[in-house]
Amino acid sequence: MCGIVGIFGHPEASTVAYLSLYALQHRGQESAGIVTCAAGELVRRAGMGQVAEVFSKDVLEDLPGNSAIGHVRYSTAGESASCNVQPFALRHHRGPIALAHNGNLVNAASVRTELEAEGAIFQTTSDTETILHLAARARVPDVVDALVDALRQMRGAYSLVAMVPGRLIAARDPLGFRPLSIGRLGAAWVVASETCVFDLIGATFVRDMERGEIVVMDVGGLHSFKPFESERAAPCQFEHVYFARPDSTVFGVSVQSVRKKLGEQLWAEQPADVDVVVPVPDSGSFPAYGFARASGIPFEMGLVRNHYVGRTFIEPSQQIRNFGVRIKLNPVKELLAGRRIVLIDDSVVRGTTSRKIVQLCREAGAAEVHLRVSCPPTIGPCYYGIDTPLREELIAANRTLEETREFIGADSLGYLSLEGMLQASGKRIDEVCTACWTNEQPVALPPAEYQQLGLFEKAKR
Ligand code: SF4
Repeated sequence: MCGIVGIFGHPEASTVAYLSLYALQHRGQESAGIVTCAAGELVRRAGMGQVAEVFSKDVLEDLPGNSAIGHVRYSTAGESASCNVQPFALRHHRGPIALAHNGNLVNAASVRTELEAEGAIFQTTSDTETILHLAARARVPDVVDALVDALRQMRGAYSLVAMVPGRLIAARDPLGFRPLSIGRLGAAWVVASETCVFDLIGATFVRDMERGEIVVMDVGGLHSFKPFESERAAPCQFEHVYFARPDSTVFGVSVQSVRKKLGEQLWAEQPADVDVVVPVPDSGSFPAYGFARASGIPFEMGLVRNHYVGRTFIEPSQQIRNFGVRIKLNPVKELLAGRRIVLIDDSVVRGTTSRKIVQLCREAGAAEVHLRVSCPPTIGPCYYGIDTPLREELIAANRTLEETREFIGADSLGYLSLEGMLQASGKRIDEVCTACWTNEQPVALPPAEYQQLGLFEKAKR
């Protein structure tokens, strides 16, 4: 879970990158960073925390140059520590280079072990650093060829931006797990994880990067090539279900439109005899709208979200029931009391939050609380860059539907089917990644490779 941006050829590149990271803040709140390039040198400012905590006017003024890359991070591989804050910036024998990465490289641990055995010294625990080590060792003169050489050795998910003096480079893995779009801001080029960035900075959407594509931006314009062999496509279906912003267009499709269709399909498959449809905000809102529209049942914002909760808060010593959830979500008693409600959520992971939300609704006086979920049961962790827990923590991987309903405390529980999710998205199963619902990995991992996922597993514990 990360967001990346690159800007080439703009006089206020750092400010544009900063604004872009604001638009991508939902993709990671652990750390934020920007690297700019001026007079052949890279300047980096980065730190732990959200964009507003890391960057001030003074910090941005310390970032000169007309090209920049930026990153917001939510750790998947590599612990949450300042050494792992991206973009990485370093100097190798071809000169300075900076790199920001979204995705997870499934063979990073085994590549790292080999490199360390040969004497490489790593400064981070991030999978991304392996790309830089491999690029530095590549026996080719040009840095773009070196990156291609490095990426050819990596497996898994990457959408990335790299910067060297005079050039910005963007790449998307051959299966296309994570999104990356190209835009134009006046004469400048912009690449970003999601199109909501272009709306904020006033850029025009040009096109999505193709899977397996490398794009190089320099004073001569934009140059594209596809150095990687074409494999099957595996864009992450979870981007449309939960992760991407609803005002973005991801993989060529409007996220809000998919979410509404998921809700309509959910009603067709898992109807509920209730008085009112209530979304679990924010990501349940669009599927709930679709569910209400298809069913004709009134839609009510029966849970209100506090958007201003920070990362930490002090709990009162005298315990308040469900304080952790209550500080983020408050039920509107006037809308729920005495009514049979169906809660619409985008996913159920551990089940603990759903259980608390159902309790909140009952305490607010709801006569019945039914839960409908706009994707299938999550039964496996994600190896490609979304921070889902380990299998033993996933409720649907360890309990039957009835046991899950009982744990959550809902009057009934229904998930959207895999077929229904794909139908609503207009996709075939071989066109997207659905591994967290099917355990069928689009990147075949031999058993030994699973053993090598040490970094990944450790990061999740
Ligand atoms: Fe997305 Fe799930 Fe595949 Fe991960 S496993 S890339 S979350 S669909």
